[in-house]
Amino acid sequence: MFPHHERRTRLIEAFPDTIDALLVTRLINVAYLTGFTGSNGALLVPRVGTPVIATDSRYAIQVTEQAPDLECIDARAVGSVLVERAGQSGVRRLGVEAKHVTLASYDALQGAAGDGITLVATGPLVEALRAVKDDSEIAALTTACEITDAAFATVTASLRAGVAEAEVAWQLATAVREHGGSGMAFDSIVAFGPNSAIPHHEPTDRPLGAGELVKLDFGARYAGYHADMTRTVVLTPAADWQRDVHAEVLAIQAASRAACVVGAVPRDLDAGAAAAIEATGHRVFHGLGHGVGLEIHEDPFLTSGSVAGPLAESAAVTVEPGIYLPGQGGVRIEDTVVIDAGGARSLTQSARDLREVG
Ligand code: ZN
Ligand code: ZN
Repeated sequence: MFPHHERRTRLIEAFPDTIDALLVTRLINVAYLTGFTGSNGALLVPRVGTPVIATDSRYAIQVTEQAPDLECIDARAVGSVLVERAGQSGVRRLGVEAKHVTLASYDALQGAAGDGITLVATGPLVEALRAVKDDSEIAALTTACEITDAAFATVTASLRAGVAEAEVAWQLATAVREHGGSGMAFDSIVAFGPNSAIPHHEPTDRPLGAGELVKLDFGARYAGYHADMTRTVVLTPAADWQRDVHAEVLAIQAASRAACVVGAVPRDLDAGAAAAIEATGHRVFHGLGHGVGLEIHEDPFLTSGSVAGPLAESAAVTVEPGIYLPGQGGVRIEDTVVIDAGGARSLTQSARDLREVG
């Protein structure tokens, strides 16, 4: 289903001149490049020659099924054994993923490298590839978002006074499974009334009351890919202040999605949304969004401190501005979007207007 071989070819094309091979030790990157999803593994990608994967005997069968095109070495110390293999095959300068190698594992790799190999710290080479989705990834994200929309429709149809936040979180999990998801993308945020003013509220046994906002931030996982959506509805009747805040967020979210075009700078997108929130007289509590794919939060980040370059075509990001009135309530509207040549296309498609339920 996923073009692992093509991904490795693109990785080699992105190698800096300073390395002959890359040792991939970050598991999610190993999965991206090979399809292997075990909990212990590493991958050696030489500039010339055949890649080699290492894992231990618990995964001996799984690795041949998931990555049948690769040679596999059976070992517990997967990094060290691949460093030794690199040395045997003539590698002199071996890239290591600097951001994900601890001091302890660096010592172990250095021990295996001896004098023959120089370890070279490399930047986020695989993460940079992952930030641009291929067709198979966009298809998986699309399905994850369709399941998320379906679960939202199922759960909001039965929202009634007296139900607890934690109960609704469980209903979301059940609905995602029933609609074909393999699990939740992250722990769902279900927040009623004043709790909706807490951006990352954890669901409690608090019962839902009439006239309260209901903030649902959740997503399905499908084929390893994550959906992320927030909708805020109200248990009837809605108050004027709720309509006002919701309308403000709706307008800012629409403008932010429209601004997510190829070439837009993530840090500037965040700054634009923050300025729009401040213009309504409210405080900014979090960034505009984040990349989404094999991880729920990945490059590129749409935040004030983001160092991400301009948005590329086929990047997948969330757009999730919110306005929060501490002690009273809050509204967030979030979509998972993919950046097409013509602009942001929302993969999550549940209606965004303030729905009165119950
Ligand atoms: Zn979310
Ligand atoms: Zn998000």
